[in-house]
Amino acid sequence: QHAIHQLTSGQVVIDLQTAVKELVENSLDAKATNIEVRFKDYGLKSIEVIDNGTGIGSEDFDSIGLKHHTSKLAAFEDLTSVTTFGFRGEALSSLCALSASVVITTATAHTPFGTILELNRDGTVKSRSGKVARQRGTTVSVSGLFTPLPVRRKELERNVKREFGKALHLLNAYALVPCTHGVPAVLLSVSNTVQGKKSVQLRTDGSDSLRAAVSALWGPKMLENIVELNLDFDVETERSVLRRRGQETSNTMTSGVRVRGLISKFSVGGGRTGIDRQFFYINHRPCNISKVQKALNEVYRTFNMHQSPFIVADFILPPDSCDINVSPDKRTILLHSESSLIEALKHAVTDSFSSSRS
Ligand code: ADP
Ligand code: MG
Repeated sequence: QHAIHQLTSGQVVIDLQTAVKELVENSLDAKATNIEVRFKDYGLKSIEVIDNGTGIGSEDFDSIGLKHHTSKLAAFEDLTSVTTFGFRGEALSSLCALSASVVITTATAHTPFGTILELNRDGTVKSRSGKVARQRGTTVSVSGLFTPLPVRRKELERNVKREFGKALHLLNAYALVPCTHGVPAVLLSVSNTVQGKKSVQLRTDGSDSLRAAVSALWGPKMLENIVELNLDFDVETERSVLRRRGQETSNTMTSGVRVRGLISKFSVGGGRTGIDRQFFYINHRPCNISKVQKALNEVYRTFNMHQSPFIVADFILPPDSCDINVSPDKRTILLHSESSLIEALKHAVTDSFSSSRS
């Protein structure tokens, strides 16, 4: 129901968390290897994301802030095989519409200097500077998030600590992505400046193993209490293939699912980790799969009373067995045959937990 609401309202940026997420995803899509996120006053004043990615070519300056402008998707058929985080060209235009100001500084490999672009609320370019010193990459600064919508702004101000916490959780999830991805790790650092005092909130060390990333994020002690989560199982999926009008075929097929990640060891009377330390991905994309999360927690609890484990779980599925295009923020992913997947997962986890115990 939530997803439907988001769909009809058509906004990608619905809170602080999604604002930051979209900016970081753009940096990752631009193949950045170093990303810095700077919050001022928990994001109330500004959010700035600085990357060393490809930069934005001058031919795109006039269109980047416009709705549905994207450089990432050539044809609609590509939707089943999107490999970039973004593909709808809605984030920058939403941020322009929903904040006091959006300023972009960017430089590409072809331009040994940068350009500062200030965007209008409708995404058009308000001003464009001459040449400024800038290494290759892009900085996007968003100030006064939601100030054009006083009610939503008030809500953000009232709950800013909690909203900031959610944003940090998501940034942690992204800090772990490259490691589950098997590609060179991204250096991600996040800071918050309050009344002129800057504090580092998280920082990865660029190592490409998941364990090393966990250690960098939460300290080496964390590693003593976790084990590999490594599952392979099959799911019977019922797929109805809708071709042209009137031609619907339904077929059952078996899909192989892999789950890769880490989970807390069983420890009698072990401390509670809490679901704020649980990270779920589908094909390396951080997402909300709350039913799957709930099922995994339930099985875990039958083995180990009173604990919510630390979980990093990346579900590797055939791309056509899920749909990331359900909600604008792409956090809600529709899993075809979700209930069969959950059943199969429960069995696989139970088997693996039973054998690791004996
Ligand atoms: P999408 O990511 O769906 O393409 P966005 O609104 O998020 O749409 O971004 C619009 C366009 O702006 C992108 O397609 C990309 O060309 C450009 N862009 C935005 N942020 C960056 C960045 N950090 N580095 C390079 N290009 C960027
Ligand atoms: Mg984007």
